Amino acid sequence: TDFLQFGLGERIEKALTEANYTVPTPIQRQAIPILMKGHDLLGIAQTGTGKTAAFALPSLDYLSQTYKPLKARTSRMLVLAPTRELASQIAESFRTYGKFLRLTITTAFGGVPIGRQVRALQRGVDILVATPGRLIDLVDQNALDLSQVEVFVLDEADQMLDLGFIHALRRIVRILPKKRQSLFFSATMPPAIAELAAQFLTEPQKVEV
Ligand code: AMP
Repeated sequence: TDFLQFGLGERIEKALTEANYTVPTPIQRQAIPILMKGHDLLGIAQTGTGKTAAFALPSLDYLSQTYKPLKARTSRMLVLAPTRELASQIAESFRTYGKFLRLTITTAFGGVPIGRQVRALQRGVDILVATPGRLIDLVDQNALDLSQVEVFVLDEADQMLDLGFIHALRRIVRILPKKRQSLFFSATMPPAIAELAAQFLTEPQKVEV
């Protein structure tokens, strides 16, 4: 398939074949090579363009190629989404593409009891998909330590601002390690969003679809 050009590894390629993905979408074609090189990314793309696989595939490759024993209450990758529905969908995509990898994926969002999420984080996870408010609650309860995050994704940044998550986002980014790969996605790029992106990203490559 046309996904072979990216060098994602046999296990990911097999999962894509099972999911009937044969042709990469434009955002995947543009973003995957940039992310495989470890660059930061500013992506201007709507839902439905295949942006989830664009960021999930290179990070699954990276995490599986650089296996590390997990430290308690940490995560190697953090994906922030504005709603629990989107967070669930993103986690489901990671599970589909990563079904032949030994990586752990968990979600944390509000509106459900926090206890199960606290327990799911106890031994550490490879990939955490969360909404900002619940993530802050977990950090404040010492149930989550963000010091080991290597890959950070902010999805649907414009929706995040509309939902009033700006302070939560700034607080989260302040406690992330400085040395990390960061990805920032938004459907629109008004000045307030561009400013936020500039604060979160280091020498980002820009992709627009
Ligand atoms: P997203 O924009 O990430 O929400 O993806 C939109 C939909 O397209 C999801 O249902 C994906 O499973 C599907 N999809 C993403 N990339 C591909 C691809 N290369 N081939 C077929 N389906 C895809």
